[in-house]
Amino acid sequence: METPACTRCGRRPANYYRTSSGERLCLNCLFRSIEDTVLRTIKKYQLMIEGDKVGIAISGGKDSLTLMYLLGKFRKKGELPKNVELIAFSINEGQPYSCFYRMARSDYVRKLSDEFNIPYRVFTFKELFGVTAAEVAHGLWSKEINIHMCTIDGVLRRRAMNIIGRQLGLTKIATGHNLDDESQTVLLNVTSNDLDRFSWFGPTPEVDREGFIPRIKPLRFVREEEVAIYAHYHGIPLMELECPFVYNNPRYELKFTLARWERDNPNIKHSLVSFGDSLAKLLRERTAKVPLNRCRYCGEPTSGDVCRVCDLISRAGLLDKYLVHLRTLKLTDTQSPS
Ligand SMILES: [Zn+2]
Ligand SMILES: [Zn+2]
Repeated sequence: METPACTRCGRRPANYYRTSSGERLCLNCLFRSIEDTVLRTIKKYQLMIEGDKVGIAISGGKDSLTLMYLLGKFRKKGELPKNVELIAFSINEGQPYSCFYRMARSDYVRKLSDEFNIPYRVFTFKELFGVTAAEVAHGLWSKEINIHMCTIDGVLRRRAMNIIGRQLGLTKIATGHNLDDESQTVLLNVTSNDLDRFSWFGPTPEVDREGFIPRIKPLRFVREEEVAIYAHYHGIPLMELECPFVYNNPRYELKFTLARWERDNPNIKHSLVSFGDSLAKLLRERTAKVPLNRCRYCGEPTSGDVCRVCDLISRAGLLDKYLVHLRTLKLTDTQSPS
C-alpha cells in the first residue's frame, strides 16, 4: 500500500495525522504550520510590540526550549516586531527539583543563546526568597498542612518571575505553555471550583495591573505532541528526567482524561481553551475595577491582605527569615548606583 500524500503540498508523503483537522501532513508542512500558528498567535493578540523587552522563561523542558528556538529564529528572519529584545532566564528552585530536572539542559540553552544572540541568566529561589521550595514544603508538611510540592513551587515561581522581570526591566515574560497545558488549566480551574483563577487566563497579556509583568504564551495553540515532534526534528532535547513530584500532580491524571475525551471530540482542547478565554475576558472586565492591595508583609500586589507567597511562607514558619532576606535585597537595591 502506498503512503498517502500530504494534504497540504500534495507532493511529499504524509508522516503525521492531525486529528483535530483530519489533515495528513508531511514533516515540512507540519513544521511550517506550527511556525505559522505561533507567528499568527503573536500577531493576532499583539503578544509583542516594537521595542518590547521579552524574557523567555526556560524550564529546561522541550516546550520552553522550542519557544526560545522559535523566537530566536523569527527574530533572525525579521518576523518579530522591530527592536524586540530577548533575554532567556531559568529559575533554579533548589533541591530536589533543579539538581537534574531544570538544569539538565543548560548546555543546550547556552548553545541557543549563542546561536540567536539571546543572553541567558539563572536565578535561584535562595537568592530571590532566602528560602527554597523544599524548605517551605517541609515547614508546611511538618505542621501537617498538606500542600502539594508543585503548588508551592508554582506560587513561588510566579512571584519569582515578577521579581526577575523587574530586575531585568522586562516588558513581557514568555512561557512555553502549549495547548495541552492550557486546556488542562481550564479543567483544573473548573474541577477545583476556582473561578478567580480564570482572570489570569487568556491569550493577551494583562497589561494594566501594577506590579505584574504581563505573561505571554506564544505556543498556546500548538498541541503538545506537535511541539515534541518539532523539537525532536530540530535537535531540541526532549526531557529525559521528569520532575520527581509529577506522579501525584493533578495535571498528570488530566493528561490521560483529556486524551480519552479527545477520541470522541478531536477539538476538545481548542474548545476548552476558547471557553477559558471567554470566561477570562468576562472576569477581567469585572476585576479591572477592583483596586489591588499591597501585601501587609512584602508589599507585593495582592487582592487580599496577605499575598499567596507570604501566606505559604508564614504557615511554613519561615516568614521572619523571608522578611529579613527581603530587607537585605531592598538595601542592596537602593545602594546600587543604577
Ligand atoms: Zn506537505
Ligand atoms: Zn507578601
